[in-house]
Amino acid sequence: MTRVIRVGVVGAAGRMGSTICDAVAEADGLELVAAVDVVSAGGVTHGVAIASDLKALADAECDVVVDFTVADAARTTLPWLALHGMHAVVGTTGFSADDIESFRRAFTGSNCLVAANFAIGAVLMMRFAEQAAPWFETAEIIEFHHNAKADAPSGTAMETARRMAAASSEWAPDPTKHEVVPGARGGEGPGGIRVHGVRMVGMTASQEVVLGTAGQTLVIRHDSNDRVSFMPGVVLACRQVGALTERFTLGIDSLL
Ligand code: NAD
Repeated sequence: MTRVIRVGVVGAAGRMGSTICDAVAEADGLELVAAVDVVSAGGVTHGVAIASDLKALADAECDVVVDFTVADAARTTLPWLALHGMHAVVGTTGFSADDIESFRRAFTGSNCLVAANFAIGAVLMMRFAEQAAPWFETAEIIEFHHNAKADAPSGTAMETARRMAAASSEWAPDPTKHEVVPGARGGEGPGGIRVHGVRMVGMTASQEVVLGTAGQTLVIRHDSNDRVSFMPGVVLACRQVGALTERFTLGIDSLL
């Protein structure tokens, strides 16, 4: 009989974290054994007390810890998890390339998977954008999120631009000579690909990748209308992170 995987959730009181606690509690082969958050400490989720200290993860002997918080918090939590030999599934966004490198170095005795997007449709959107990139000379990314998102642009937009830039270096220069409103042309992502962030009441998470070449445009769009869209990916990552052959994995592509 396969052993049940003991899962802890950091950010358990947040929008994503609370949905993840529900998904883990319902998933076969996973058991929610610890929950940590700086707010709602003292509360209870699925019979598990929400603690304010990471120590609760060690006390509960977690095999896997899921982190959906903010980049600043995760910069402390991830090395702590590595030090305590726990596998990490990380959905927090807003990391720099240096952060990713330091996580890669920290995990030497357990595995860490960091993914900017756990929704299968978004993973496919990134893959399609990467495939399309060599066939177009202009591309811009527009990401749309709810009005409480702390970081911009989204991790998904940055990861999409990084993959498109790796797939093609033949991008046309920006023709803009005068930006009437600073920022009107968006931010410059990897490969010079422009990234535009929209923050909107009523939105969850959407993205459009717009590509153009002579006489034609291609729009690849993905919408997460509900946070449950991320749950199959998070549950899959919890089940598989311990068996990954690499200590550090970026994205869930290799799990699909
Ligand atoms: P949220 O603000 O609702 O939740 C974050 C939670 O983290 C809060 O409850 C907060 O109290 C807690 N927190 C902050 N610092 C902490 C610390 N030091 N220790 C413990 N808990 C701490 O935000 P959200 O909408 O749930 O998003 C969380 C993160 O997940 C963001 O970075 C967001 O961009 C990312 N996200 C990723 C995906 C994905 O598929 N990878 C999808 C959606 C959101």
